[in-house]
Amino acid sequence: MADDPCVFPLKCAVQNYVWGKLGNQSEVARLSQSGNPDFKLQQDVPYAELWMGTHPNGPSKIYLEGMEEKDLGEWISEHPERLGKETNDYFKGELPFLFKVLSVRTSLSIQAHPNKIHAELLNRENPNLYKDANHKPELAIALTPFQGLCGFHVIQDVAKYLQDIQEFRTVVGTENAIKLITASRAIDMASHRSVMKNAFEAMMMRDKETLQKEVRKWVSKVMDMEEQGEDISQYNGEVLLKLHREFPGDVGCFAVYFLNHITLQPGQAMFLDANLPHAYLSGDCMECMACSDNVVRAGLTVKYVDVQTLCKMLDYTGRQPQKAIFAAIQDTEDPYAAIFKPPVNDFAVIRIMLPGDVAQYQLRPLQNASICIVISGKAEGTTRSLANPLKLQPGSVFFMSANEIVTLKLEVGSMLLFRAHPNL
Ligand SMILES: [Zn+2]
Repeated sequence: MADDPCVFPLKCAVQNYVWGKLGNQSEVARLSQSGNPDFKLQQDVPYAELWMGTHPNGPSKIYLEGMEEKDLGEWISEHPERLGKETNDYFKGELPFLFKVLSVRTSLSIQAHPNKIHAELLNRENPNLYKDANHKPELAIALTPFQGLCGFHVIQDVAKYLQDIQEFRTVVGTENAIKLITASRAIDMASHRSVMKNAFEAMMMRDKETLQKEVRKWVSKVMDMEEQGEDISQYNGEVLLKLHREFPGDVGCFAVYFLNHITLQPGQAMFLDANLPHAYLSGDCMECMACSDNVVRAGLTVKYVDVQTLCKMLDYTGRQPQKAIFAAIQDTEDPYAAIFKPPVNDFAVIRIMLPGDVAQYQLRPLQNASICIVISGKAEGTTRSLANPLKLQPGSVFFMSANEIVTLKLEVGSMLLFRAHPNL
């Protein structure tokens, strides 16, 4: 074989967080079982995340016949030029993103991520709590119908919930509620954001006892309505009941009246820019993020909740839910490729969907290194630096150095791949 492989398969770490889907229900498990020779699937174990990248808590490992098994990060530090000149210069020899598959069974905490400047400040002031000085923008692309909360409702919707739901009004406080309802009748975005902030903050600061009492009271009313066959969708009833089953009495249950509930269909995406409140509720998705652990939590969690930091930093702009959907740009030269290109340098993700009648396809050379994962379909991948072709099937993950080409010879049937790379 060639002595300097520039393209190679990766064995990727799986995270068994309790919120993950169980056994073969999980896309993470399904992909790992077919793509990773070491993986042994167990039906009663949660498989939450598959990590592709160099993060020290779950580094991907190179495995190639004739080459010693080693961490991708270690290999990159020995061959930083393989990242491509721009990535090597801009990100100082590091792969800037972590690429993941997520399989969500129970809701993740409501959270937001600081921007770069704020992240540096939090890390300086409180390094034990905020260990990381990097920002953490995230992109989620649905593989199955994927539910989440994302961004604030338009103020008129919050006003309506406040008018209709007495328990919600109680936790927000009557005065805040009246101010928000009044402000919602005028068009003044600055005042909208300010009353929204006051109302949200008041709810987050409310004593636990009151919150639990009001959440339980309201939930039992919604359950009664459901039992009597009434329409509970006007109260976001289904999501409310799911959250309450998973986190009984948690302040996060009332978050459905502040935050948009979104269901992404397979192929649709949302981009979670700095300070945008969000929570993943259920489903499987691809996720790409800047390599960071910077999370400020707001509820639906047993972890530390830093309410003051969170309330100060959030983007309180109200949006229609469909505004949360982040569109891919069709590649003008490649009918099978579309790119999700968020306004950050750390990453972009290309989705490649090959129909059944394509026999051969070339993964084009990019100026920066990339990581690819096959979601469905089978192919052989040939590349100049490997004597033997890559055997690609669902769950196969491989690293491509900058400026490399992989030619896919497809077996019968269609193929879906995602390819993440620095967005420089
Ligand atoms: Zn997040």
